[in-house]
Amino acid sequence: AKTWVLTERFEGFPKDSNFRLQLEQLPDPKDGEMLLEALFLSVDPYMRAYVMRIQPGEVMMGSQVAKVIKSHNPSFPVGSHVVGRCGWRTHSLSDGAGLTLLQADWPQEVSLSQALGGIGMPGLTALYGLEEVLDLKEGETLLVNAAAGAVGSVVGQIAKIKGCKVVGSAGSDAKVAFLKDLGFDEAFNYKTITSLEETLKAASPDGYDCFFENVGGPFFSVALPQMKQFGRIAVCGGISLYNDTTPQTGPYPHTSMVFKQLKMEGFLVNRWQHKNPEGIRRLLAWAKEGKLHCREHVTEGFEKMPSAFMGMLKGENIGKAVIKV
Ligand code: NDP
Repeated sequence: AKTWVLTERFEGFPKDSNFRLQLEQLPDPKDGEMLLEALFLSVDPYMRAYVMRIQPGEVMMGSQVAKVIKSHNPSFPVGSHVVGRCGWRTHSLSDGAGLTLLQADWPQEVSLSQALGGIGMPGLTALYGLEEVLDLKEGETLLVNAAAGAVGSVVGQIAKIKGCKVVGSAGSDAKVAFLKDLGFDEAFNYKTITSLEETLKAASPDGYDCFFENVGGPFFSVALPQMKQFGRIAVCGGISLYNDTTPQTGPYPHTSMVFKQLKMEGFLVNRWQHKNPEGIRRLLAWAKEGKLHCREHVTEGFEKMPSAFMGMLKGENIGKAVIKV
């Protein structure tokens, strides 16, 4: 197996020297085990945020879609496809713990890689954030940032399915055009506008009922005062903060929280793990009906994992960043 090992903890923005490609000889699978071959691997922001959970010398964390190529486990026959948190490796031994078998009737027209994106963890994050945390209702106005990414692009589309007005921000004109194509009512390039406050006001003069927050930092501080009375905020992530070496401390608009009586809740997608099979079925149904488009940014070659990861953190991806082995 080829693996990517973490050589040292990230200090600020990750760099090439944080990773080392390493070969590993895997034994034959024992009784109850199988050998998996990675087809697609995922690079996600949480790998930057959670890297303290692995030690230097260990294989980088991450999910992949893999094919079972040898099996001594009847639940996972040869040829079946799974999603698992196997890490950055081309081949893995598994006893099935933590693996999800992709349903045998996964539609031909939907790439298996989508199980890492819109029809997988990021898609479920969008769904649960909107339904469980925000309780988004028809006719409401929603703001979402990092909107052209894996989670954000699904957030906006589900909000449109629910009959809402959607405003999204992203970091390039190509991403803004993509959001308009997806049906976002308003979209803007946060890197080229002169005033975020004025842009948010112009996009929705009455303010925002709901805010799906992926970015943190100044964006968050400027957006809060644009909420309506009793507005709801789902704090999903803070991509602008993950590479900071000194944590940012406000100022945050506490007065908006109080005087607008806002409700804010942070969440992790795994809180609703028990709903995942149903959630995946719903996302898949929307995709088959043509209501959910899950664009991907595919990098070819396992050797390019670190550059694909760093590229995603820099915003090179439109849609879900995946690596095809
Ligand atoms: P994306 O596909 O959105 O990729 C990351 C994007 O973040 C980049 O494309 C870039 O787009 C944007 N970005 C990078 N730096 C900045 C910055 N300084 N300011 C604003 N935007 C920036 O990733 P995901 O969809 O996988 O994740 C989106 C967010 O959701 C992250 O915060 C992540 O941590 C969170 N998340 C949370 C989960 C949970 O359970 N709570 C689960 C999954 C994800 P651009 O060009 O627009 O800058």
